[in-house]
Amino acid sequence: MAIYPNKRLRRLRYNPIVRDMIRETELSKNDLIYPMFVVPGTNVKNPVKSMPGIFQFSVDKLVKECKEVASLGIPAVILFGIPEHKDEQGSDAYDPNGIVQKAIRAIKAEVKNLLVITDVCMCEYTSHGHCGILLGEEILNDETVSLLAKEALSHVEAGADMVAPSDMMDGRVLAIRKALDYKGYTKIPIMSYSAKYSSGYYGPFRDAAESSPAFGDRRSHQMDIGNGDEAIREVESDIEEGADIVMVKPAGPYLDIIRRVKDKFGMPTAAYQVSGEFSMIKAAGQNDWIDEERVMIEALIAIKRAGADMILTYFAKDVARYLDKVRK
Ligand SMILES: [Zn+2]
Repeated sequence: MAIYPNKRLRRLRYNPIVRDMIRETELSKNDLIYPMFVVPGTNVKNPVKSMPGIFQFSVDKLVKECKEVASLGIPAVILFGIPEHKDEQGSDAYDPNGIVQKAIRAIKAEVKNLLVITDVCMCEYTSHGHCGILLGEEILNDETVSLLAKEALSHVEAGADMVAPSDMMDGRVLAIRKALDYKGYTKIPIMSYSAKYSSGYYGPFRDAAESSPAFGDRRSHQMDIGNGDEAIREVESDIEEGADIVMVKPAGPYLDIIRRVKDKFGMPTAAYQVSGEFSMIKAAGQNDWIDEERVMIEALIAIKRAGADMILTYFAKDVARYLDKVRK
């Protein structure tokens, strides 16, 4: 084994061309999935206060925005719906004329070359803001799972290319797979939010999706922040149930989990850089406390280096523009 002075690791760092040649991890547009929020009405583009540059769009504006997203070379979006009316059963979630279903049909009719993924959960649609059907203050697992299967099926019937259950109920991937297959949608993949933690980093998202729970929290279904082995068990069950892509959420604070999941299962692995991760970088950048662009890229490279094959990120448009700039 060579030792100093024969071995000098700095040798490959002097020349920028060599640095570029030996870089192990790079971002590409193909890594990006852009989360978007759709609201009722027309001509609506509401800024989300806690997420600079992120908006709630009505369907007409959403279609325009999707055209821009596709023209930037971003391959996929994931849709979150904010319905006109919310009730205890979250019935807009599986209404064929619900807000997300309308959005999917409009995008599919007008935008070429854009994969439309849908978030499948109940919390944006229930009056109490919880991820499922309640008995008292308890979220009922199996009753919720059957509604999630209905919701996923209605998205696919409207034209969704992929569904992404984010609720963390037990057994939902299998229920969704069965519901889709029964109707002949055997080719539609499931991206499962497999290891989703009960995280403080979701704060700004709840402004965007208007999905704060009216009481309590999500600790009875989302994972405890201290657990790693349990994440492996969660991912393993989702794979057994038929998940095609597994996800870790949030991303930045859980890089160890992304690495463990990738090493253990070798599955296509997604990571969700959540609203709090985004807003912290944006806020510090806007105050000139950090170089926003540099930290954005560093945060995303870290997620990819940890093992993510794709990243759901509110920075997707910024990253696509950055890549166009540096690759010129
Ligand atoms: Zn939820």
